[in-house]
Amino acid sequence: MEDYNSLLDRAIKNIPEDASSTSRIEIPKVTGRIEGNKTIINNFNQICKFFNRDVQHILKFLLRELATPAKLEENRLIFGRKVNPALINQKLQEYGDIYVFCQDCKKPDTHLITEGDKLYIKCTACGARNYVKEKL
Ligand SMILES: [Zn+2]
Repeated sequence: MEDYNSLLDRAIKNIPEDASSTSRIEIPKVTGRIEGNKTIINNFNQICKFFNRDVQHILKFLLRELATPAKLEENRLIFGRKVNPALINQKLQEYGDIYVFCQDCKKPDTHLITEGDKLYIKCTACGARNYVKEKL
């Protein structure tokens, strides 16, 4: 049994440390301010860069989810009413979960592929390709 035990011991030691920690990669939090009845987000570009997605695609998602008119002005995103930043962050997390993060390895190193009317997330980190159910 000694051999078996030493094999088992080695097998346990060989498990890479990060295999169990699929810790989420943090999406940048929105920064901005409320001005009168408007909510101004200053770092929308930074978030789009992080996602590596088209600005208009992310904007479309937010407009639908928040049911709030918004426009881009230079680098700022301006909502036509007061929006709780925590809600925007939550919606960006949802966007990331649907359109950005790999379902297998949870990394954001992915891009979208359209095939016919189907949308897939292709991961450049692990090679996985996952169907995106959500339509935007
Ligand atoms: Zn992956």
